[in-house]
Amino acid sequence: MRTDLVAALDIGGTKIAGAVVDRDGTLLARARRPTPSGTEAEATMGAVAEVLDELAGETALWSRVGAVGIGSAGPVDAGTGTVSPVNIPSWRDFPLAPRVREHTRGLPVTLVGDGVAMAAAEHWKGAARGRPDALCMVVSTGVGGGLVLGGRVHAGPSGNAGHIGHISVDLDGDLCPCGGRGCVERLASGPNIARRALEHGWRPGPDGDTGAAAVAAAAREGDPVAVASFHRAARALAAGIAATATLTDIGVAVVGGGVASAGDVLFAPLRKALHEFAVLSYVRQLDVVPAQMGTDAGLIGAAAVCGLPAPGA
Ligand SMILES: [Zn+2]
Repeated sequence: MRTDLVAALDIGGTKIAGAVVDRDGTLLARARRPTPSGTEAEATMGAVAEVLDELAGETALWSRVGAVGIGSAGPVDAGTGTVSPVNIPSWRDFPLAPRVREHTRGLPVTLVGDGVAMAAAEHWKGAARGRPDALCMVVSTGVGGGLVLGGRVHAGPSGNAGHIGHISVDLDGDLCPCGGRGCVERLASGPNIARRALEHGWRPGPDGDTGAAAVAAAAREGDPVAVASFHRAARALAAGIAATATLTDIGVAVVGGGVASAGDVLFAPLRKALHEFAVLSYVRQLDVVPAQMGTDAGLIGAAAVCGLPAPGA
């Protein structure tokens, strides 16, 4: 029997998604469960097991699965196969990769952070395709990212490389839940964009929606506080992207996630602010482009990191 397919898992704070993926990156079967919100590690693992069992129910497909790729909210530890996701409190040093291997009767498991998986997806089939050096990032409830260097996804020994959300862009900035100070995420995530707007007097419309998408809608209509909140987030992202580009000589930054769907409300001030921070000759031409892979990026990237794509794909 050929083992030409892989199982992919995308594990986040709100959902656990799985798929059987082929060599072209097509999702042939899907399953998903909400991430249990409690503190029981086994309940969360139970949801993962249910996703795998549902996929395994597609017996003709499952018999061709030769490996499992996991992109998980981080931090992860690719060396030990454990995860301690900030937004999944029930898992601290949880042995996710060994447990998935056991549950799938010994299939090889590759574990990376969700930002790395997203970068793998964008590099394989999305906005970073054909770009040998790229930063790919997700700006959403949190801010994450991954790097493509020298034509390959660079996960690093721990599987977390490229986690741009927790580099500091403000030495005297607010404390971040990670323990750092002035992190990109503390300034640019959706909840922080909304928080800043509310603190400065922005008020939601009649529907009471105080999310970042509502702030984006207000900014599009010219609300100055909403515009200022997006500008602040854009400058934080620009500083982080410029620092990354200066260090790694990347040619493109791909930005996805819910906040990026604000479009020009974010991208226009972001591109402008890059001129402020990306000043050396070799980073001045840095492209900033929207992500293309959408909500399946985590699954397609998890499939990509376990070696499925043909060489040169
Ligand atoms: Zn932080």
